[in-house]
Amino acid sequence: MNIFENMEKYDYEQLVFCQDRKTGLKAIIGIHDTTLGPALGGTRIWNYENEDAAIMDVLRLSRGMTYKNAAAGLNLGGGKTVIIGDPQKMKSEEFFRVFGRFVEGLNGRYITAEDMNTTTEDMEYINMETDHVVGLKGKSGNPSPVTAFGTFKGILAGAREAFGTEDLKGKVVAVQGVGSVGYNLCKHLYEAGARLIVTDVKKSNIEKAVKDFNAEGVEPDEIYSVACDIFSPCAMGAVVNDFTLDKFNCKLIAGCANNVLAEERHGEILEEKGIVYVPDFVINAGGVINVYEEILGYNKERALAKAANVYDKVSEVFKISKEEHIPTYKAAERLAEKRIEAIKNVKSVYLK
Ligand code: NAD
Repeated sequence: MNIFENMEKYDYEQLVFCQDRKTGLKAIIGIHDTTLGPALGGTRIWNYENEDAAIMDVLRLSRGMTYKNAAAGLNLGGGKTVIIGDPQKMKSEEFFRVFGRFVEGLNGRYITAEDMNTTTEDMEYINMETDHVVGLKGKSGNPSPVTAFGTFKGILAGAREAFGTEDLKGKVVAVQGVGSVGYNLCKHLYEAGARLIVTDVKKSNIEKAVKDFNAEGVEPDEIYSVACDIFSPCAMGAVVNDFTLDKFNCKLIAGCANNVLAEERHGEILEEKGIVYVPDFVINAGGVINVYEEILGYNKERALAKAANVYDKVSEVFKISKEEHIPTYKAAERLAEKRIEAIKNVKSVYLK
């Protein structure tokens, strides 16, 4: 792979390769853009097929964080770490402490957090070597309720766009995945008077939602085609794809899952079909808003108040989409890019 060519394509600032033979650590820290502030993004451990796959993933994920953080109005740039290997085999105190020292060496340009296959316990070890880590025990805690609250606000903004009202009374919402975020989201939707259809690969999760929210439970592969007003993806990515597009029987797609569109062209097709799509990284920013509060000094009420702003951000996306005649997924990128450009200008004023 030609690494510099790939970095140049979307103007990445830095890739840091970290190796430690004793612990087996092979980490790549990607810093995409720090115009707005230190690059923040979690540390993921994954058994990548090869090094190129790991590099491509850290590039993709760190850039995604630039957009998510910028669109959420946070003073954070975009970064991410991928660690190559089997999470079951390599985790240990010394493994994470060595990694923590590499993070410390970046002197605050990068702040890490949990991601796939890393936990709050792992962050505690990292924290023994650096303060540039968030998502610690006893601080901002589990982000899922805040993500769910932000997602609910984003659904309200989406409903206003799709139905002309944000009143969810009697609206049917199909929720795919009633895990940490999905379950909390169902609670908000239920309290707002929506009727819920839920699915999950874990039967017990369906049963709980059926019992607690008077929901209807369906099999995982049935959820795409149920008659509903809103489809809410809250499980995994790429659920809007060539196979599902013709099945949707809704007017609005809005949920917490990351990377909902399998490919960008699927966002164009949703637009052609008249289905309103609320872009994932704008609606699911509650989690990162929550950890950002940890940097400022954690306050749950303030985190929730800021997560409520997802409503305004989603509304801004619709405005840009109309003004610039572009689909909403592109408008979300424009929202982030506009903010980065504006702040670049602010920073052009010299300060000692
Ligand atoms: P989770 O693992 O707690 O919940 C996901 C649920 O989806 C689980 O109950 C799982 O059994 C179910 N599921 C998995 N595959 C499924 C399938 N094929 N069909 C139906 N259900 C399926 O995860 P979570 O923390 O609730 O996150 C959900 C999504 O939101 C993920 O895509 C995650 O990346 C994204 N997200 C989460 C946060 C957060 O704060 N937790 C923040 C931003 C984005």
